[in-house]
Amino acid sequence: MICVPLTEKTTEEMLAGAARAAKLGADLVEFRLDYLAAPDVAQLVKGKKVAAIFTCRPKREGGLFEGDESRRIGLLQQAMDLGAEYVDVELDSVAKIRRTGRARLIVSVHDFEGTPGDLWGVYRRISACRPDVVKIATTAKDIADNLAIFEVLRRADQPTIAIAMGERGVISRILAAKFGGFLTFAALEPEKTSAAGQVTVEELTGLYHYGEINGATEVFGVIAKPVAHSMSPLIHNAAFADCGMNRVYLPFLVDEVTEFVARFRGLPVKGFSVTIPHKERAMDSAEEVDEQTRRIGALNTLVERGGKLVGRNTDCSAAMGAMERALGGPGRVRGGAVSSLSGKRAAVIGARGTARAVAFGLVEAGARVRIYNRTTTRARTLAAELSSTFPDGPRCEWSALDELSGLSDADVIVNTTPVGMHPRVDESIVLADALRKGMLVFDAVYNPVETKLIREARERGALTVTGLEMFVAQAAEQFELFTGEKPPVEVMRSAVEARLGRAAK
Ligand code: NAP
Repeated sequence: MICVPLTEKTTEEMLAGAARAAKLGADLVEFRLDYLAAPDVAQLVKGKKVAAIFTCRPKREGGLFEGDESRRIGLLQQAMDLGAEYVDVELDSVAKIRRTGRARLIVSVHDFEGTPGDLWGVYRRISACRPDVVKIATTAKDIADNLAIFEVLRRADQPTIAIAMGERGVISRILAAKFGGFLTFAALEPEKTSAAGQVTVEELTGLYHYGEINGATEVFGVIAKPVAHSMSPLIHNAAFADCGMNRVYLPFLVDEVTEFVARFRGLPVKGFSVTIPHKERAMDSAEEVDEQTRRIGALNTLVERGGKLVGRNTDCSAAMGAMERALGGPGRVRGGAVSSLSGKRAAVIGARGTARAVAFGLVEAGARVRIYNRTTTRARTLAAELSSTFPDGPRCEWSALDELSGLSDADVIVNTTPVGMHPRVDESIVLADALRKGMLVFDAVYNPVETKLIREARERGALTVTGLEMFVAQAAEQFELFTGEKPPVEVMRSAVEARLGRAAK
């Protein structure tokens, strides 16, 4: 079940919020009486058209109620006497409530500091009060705290709500259904959360398809820090839903990748996407990597295959495929065929993860690559590494960023810096005068899809490849690795385009 907590300031607004929540797919709402200046319990019980929890959280448990304790208990008792479906009482106050009527009693404990080591002990203490529903809300300081929450849900022998609050606990809210949680909480709107880490009811239903998650749902996700703005959950969940797969894809906010992968594999998580800043360190988690990934030295995919965690880099093939298609080639060229990029003079701007994957692909394809970077030592190191990885290929050169004027000689320009990315959409790393007809210009930035660099390149008759092409292609390849099935590429592309289109408005 999905429960939407209502934090409006007046009784009327709360009732309107309850009606909206029900329309959006909430099974019940929570009236947070502590948010109301003048709570009218009778009007709420009478006026609501959806089942409700009545809660009046005191300051000491993270709520807003600062008044007299007997007044607070009186409001909850009134809700119970008037026949509310659920009343939530904190463990330390449960003795003050008389159980009457048909109302079911939720007994709750909140921890805003962290997740206690003995969470099962907390469960047992609540359970001893013989509530109808146990509720535990802790704070995830580390993503591994979610595992303790899932363990409580697995072991619980009565209806239980167990949630880890905070951004690191988002997955506990989405996976509550997988582990048999009684309900999960979701916000009516992004700015109306009643606890940190709450996703909106629209996200929970539209993006994560919460209603379809059950014990058999297979779990995937992206490992990143930060992760909140990643479009990977959007693109992969859209693909899973389109294919009618019982799979969900989550945002994992991870501080240390190897420990995280070791612990979450057993959840089990079947496949991970890996992004900033973990792509290189994640190589240590892979039990098997293909030759190309080993040589790139960074991966963006970890997938369970026959009991082994296999690492792959789909960034390189996605970028190369997109560029080769733009040049009229068949896409990614493998197995001895000559790439349409062979012999081209390619300027790669930037020298970190994305540059590494793209430059590797270009050198491997036989292009003559020059790396330009703001920090010259990084450009020099990457160029030297690529030259030694491909001793028989053309030497990889490097230059400082202020030598970009030499770009007009290039056949291919690749931007792998964030310059031009939202919100600084009026910037371009390349002067328009360097762009010319016949050149191939690839911008890894995909928000916005048409960057200033792409727009100016098109205006001057250059061929262009947008970051969206690469993003969709790397995700499509991951989907195939995750599921063994052909990806619904157009559905994936439309999902991202729709989000970017909305963001641009
Ligand atoms: P990153 O760590 O952000 O790499 C940044 C690179 O850009 C570094 O080489 C950095 O130079 C340079 N840079 C940053 N700000 C700059 C500035 N103001 N002026 C000049 N150079 C600057 O991470 P990344 O993973 O390589 O990602 C880079 C971009 O690619 C991001 O915009 C990301 O959104 C995009 N991307 C797209 C896809 C896709 O599928 N389309 C996939 C991955 C990444 P220093 O070395 O001097 O710091």
